[in-house]
Amino acid sequence: ENLSTKQLSVQELAELDKKYFLHPTTAPKVHAEQGPKIMFSEGKGIYVKDMDGNSYIDGVSMLWNVNLGHGQKELAEAAKEQMEKLAYSSSFIGYSNEPAVRLAEKLVSLAPGDLNSVFYTSGGSESNDTAFKLARFYWELKGQPKKRKIIALENAYHGVTIAAQTATSIPNFHTFSSSNISDVFHAKPHLTNCELGDKSDPNYEGCIRDIVEKEGADSIAAVIMEPVQGSGGVYIPPDGYLQAVRKLCDEFGILFIADEVITGFGRTGLMFGSENWDVVPDFLCFAKGVTSGYAQLGGVLIRQHIRDTIVQYEGVLSHGFTYSGHATACAVALKNIELMERDNIVVNAKNMEQVLADGFEYLKGKYDIVTKTRAIGLLSAFELYEDPTTEKPFDVSVMAAAKVGEECFSRKLLIRPIRVGEGKNIIAIAPPLVINKQEIEQLIAIIDDSISAFKKTL
Ligand code: PLP
Repeated sequence: ENLSTKQLSVQELAELDKKYFLHPTTAPKVHAEQGPKIMFSEGKGIYVKDMDGNSYIDGVSMLWNVNLGHGQKELAEAAKEQMEKLAYSSSFIGYSNEPAVRLAEKLVSLAPGDLNSVFYTSGGSESNDTAFKLARFYWELKGQPKKRKIIALENAYHGVTIAAQTATSIPNFHTFSSSNISDVFHAKPHLTNCELGDKSDPNYEGCIRDIVEKEGADSIAAVIMEPVQGSGGVYIPPDGYLQAVRKLCDEFGILFIADEVITGFGRTGLMFGSENWDVVPDFLCFAKGVTSGYAQLGGVLIRQHIRDTIVQYEGVLSHGFTYSGHATACAVALKNIELMERDNIVVNAKNMEQVLADGFEYLKGKYDIVTKTRAIGLLSAFELYEDPTTEKPFDVSVMAAAKVGEECFSRKLLIRPIRVGEGKNIIAIAPPLVINKQEIEQLIAIIDDSISAFKKTL
């Protein structure tokens, strides 16, 4: 029977899903038994509907990427217009197309400092892999081929391709079918010294410095970090941290890669996260918000001195993806940025930060289990402890973050529960940047009810 054109009920689709669709970052056994948790069918702004017609608030912009919100017709029209003209062209061997060129110019005009050329990819992991390879290529061209190691931070998430996975240090992602590329990614200093705004440590970057001194700067190509750690639990570094890492890199001749896959395109209340601390990285990796998720696109912005070196190379830069410079994806990105500018979306993200922070303060005041609230733009989180004053964590068996997540889900709010190690239960909130004050209040009210329900189960 040919099912591809037949009308199918939600139940029939769920059966097919169970049988044929192996889901990413999903428990396969549970899924094979129970099928999909939800089947989305449409969306508008901060809301998404499932196939049964239930409407949810998307409190995390799906995977922190739907920055302009759902159902933006103008993005669909941009895609349609470009697809009808020329959906795709290669950008290998010097081939090019108009949207890719225009987007490159636009990105450069927005990027901080002298980040002024772009290498396109189709997502975040590919962008980080690309930055690693370009960093090593740069050092080879500079006559320092031994500079190959990459330093990443503890608790980082950089994606799942083998190189990005190795830099990722969230345990499950790092170890899943892992590859020990030990000559490559080495060290994982932690933000703990400076975690959550503890500015008492004058030597923020000391953890990185120790590793540089131990390994020798002549073996290190680059340091990679997220300006604000996302999937690891939304850690906002204290003022001074990024600057200190930048300075350390300059001191030792190490390239600085900013993984802005989440923090790019307005998420933190400025166009790029690095701008919060006036830091210009050597490579700025982006994906997600560049198209608000309407098309698959990523890339790496590259500083002038690196470009100058690379363009001296007379051979072929043997790296690139079929979809590098995808015409339709680039047209969507251009429209996405145009709408962000037209509708002052980045300013809105900045303005809504305080509304969200006020909501968190209210929750913290009302519940003795809520603490460590934080927000930068619309990237935010709070934590749950059995006793915040002594930082006594909930027992692992309580599954506090997951339970609160389930309570929110049953009240039609999507949030991101994060459990780090044994002790940390984090609730991450990162709604579409188009959200308004009333909608944030609605979101907070649902979290309020959800925490209340969770507390009753204790
Ligand atoms: N880097 C960061 C900071 C991310 O948050 C993610 C995805 O969540 C990635 C890289 C990987 O991006 P992708 O899933 O598009 O490969």
